[in-house]
Amino acid sequence: MTEQDLISSVIRPEIRALTAYKVADATGYIKLDAMENPYTWPEEIKVEWLKIVHDAEINRYPDPEARSLCRILKEYNQIPDQSEILLGNGSDEIIQLLLMALPANATVIAPEPSFVMYKQVALCLGLNYQGIPLKADTFELDLELMLATINSQQPEIIFLAYPNNPTGNLFDRNAIEQIIQQAPGLVIIDEAYAPFTDSNFIQQLTKYKNLLVMRTVSKLGLAGLRLGFIAGNSLIINQLNKARLPYNINILTQCSVEFALTHPQMFTEQTEILRQERARMFLQLSTLKDINPCPSSANFILLRTAKDQATNIFHSLKEQGILIKNLAPHKGLLSDCLRVTIGKPEENNAFIKALKIAIM
Ligand code: PMP
Repeated sequence: MTEQDLISSVIRPEIRALTAYKVADATGYIKLDAMENPYTWPEEIKVEWLKIVHDAEINRYPDPEARSLCRILKEYNQIPDQSEILLGNGSDEIIQLLLMALPANATVIAPEPSFVMYKQVALCLGLNYQGIPLKADTFELDLELMLATINSQQPEIIFLAYPNNPTGNLFDRNAIEQIIQQAPGLVIIDEAYAPFTDSNFIQQLTKYKNLLVMRTVSKLGLAGLRLGFIAGNSLIINQLNKARLPYNINILTQCSVEFALTHPQMFTEQTEILRQERARMFLQLSTLKDINPCPSSANFILLRTAKDQATNIFHSLKEQGILIKNLAPHKGLLSDCLRVTIGKPEENNAFIKALKIAIM
């Protein structure tokens, strides 16, 4: 038996057909590719945190329900009392958990372009995935097409990232509510970028029983800890909880996030600087010839370049020591697009300077 025969007999065809989610090696670069918060903590807060880590009982399994962390997350995110939450090892794990719980041959719908994991995990699990194109000029939902597809496909689950990645915009609220009302199954509003906008669907959780809101602490500045959660109707959350592995949130993540969220002011200050930098970057980018920044409510900006120039610009920036995300390989609406994460003011200045050279 050859290795290929072995692989064909033990790996499902839909997985063999996938390409792995690649993350570029950022060593030595100004890293503006992954929507991370560039700020760390003041020394005195780090010292306080180390005391907590010092006392963590790593010889014991962590609290399987992470009850204390759940309480703090609910409070920090103003989740209604009636709603329940479920934690994941990053919101990526929650996407996997949601899709694992669906019936065989279930249909998953998401607009495109959007966060690639919805499709990746759906295909991995052999589900029927349908991407619905956003409007080409505005990256807004094509409501008519969404509603028509919902009617014809009767999807078990719909993912809407709010703000959307990689476009950065907030879809029309009214359109989203119509989708929630018409959907025969679950609608997941993925609010990964909630720290960078004042608009969200948390208050709608008690209005719609098929609505779930997913969040993460990654973009807030805790990406290394891997923690996401989903909030909503307790009956649904209780069912999903059965598919969760018992100790999915390790003890260091539990105590560190709990500690971090007792310093809300620090995060508010950091995200406020990033929001201001986003506005400053947008203005500066708007003045550049052949660069078209899309208005963003997240901590990144999508740039449209001149036709077929995205990859050249990406490589030129890389040669100048700056790593952003080249979306041209995704083709379609993204074939002339780059995505840059908002960094510290000096990183953003270096990016603009290098971009000017790249488009010369
Ligand atoms: N949702 C969206 C829209 C994202 O952009 C990302 C990460 N880029 C995630 C979810 C996953 O976040 P994490 O697994 O770090 O919580």
